[in-house]
Amino acid sequence: MDAEPLNDVPPDATPPPGPGLDDVPRRRALGGAATLLGAVALGAAGAFSIGRPPASAASRPPESYPPTHWIPASSANYTVSGRPGAYPVEYLVIHVTEETFPDTVKIFKDPKSKVSAHYAVASADGYVAQFVRERDIAWHAGNWDYNTRSIGIEHEGWVDRPEYFTDALYRSSARLAAAVCARYGIPADREHIIGHVEVPGSTHTDPGPYWDWDRYLELVTGHLTPGG
Ligand SMILES: [Zn+2]
Repeated sequence: MDAEPLNDVPPDATPPPGPGLDDVPRRRALGGAATLLGAVALGAAGAFSIGRPPASAASRPPESYPPTHWIPASSANYTVSGRPGAYPVEYLVIHVTEETFPDTVKIFKDPKSKVSAHYAVASADGYVAQFVRERDIAWHAGNWDYNTRSIGIEHEGWVDRPEYFTDALYRSSARLAAAVCARYGIPADREHIIGHVEVPGSTHTDPGPYWDWDRYLELVTGHLTPGG
């Protein structure tokens, strides 16, 4: 074992003259990191200023489940209806956003997006926002027939990044799903709680292979069982 190299460079060694071959890229990398941190900080601020009104300031549509926060989607992104009279509500469609929560909020509020979901659940803490009243038809399934007969729940994350599917996200979503199932008499099973990928004609793969269906249905069922 040879410890000599540790002493090869004196502590006060001067850097080579000029920019140096690896000096500029290193500075660029540092600048990039600083920019990234700034973006993360902005994103977090956006989550609170745009996507997360304090509970006391949130108004709720009459049928929403108590712990949700009402952040209305652009009226250009859903169809006003009178469900469950106009259409039976028979399915829950489970989605993964492929976007951050703040970006999901921006997309649903943008009249040009032509997309929405009734709810979205945040990864880190299970925060639930509602964007479309349950009586109205959100545009989430890519299939008009299924849109008319379903409630869409988005989950913050990516299909190939299972770390986004946190305990808080599963628990919060399952509580919401149980309330929706109870409200419309939807059986809490895989025939009625389906992934976007299972909607006929779907071109989407969400929620993907890492979504733990067994765990999710167990949590939903737990809320629907007396004393559960
Ligand atoms: Zn989807």
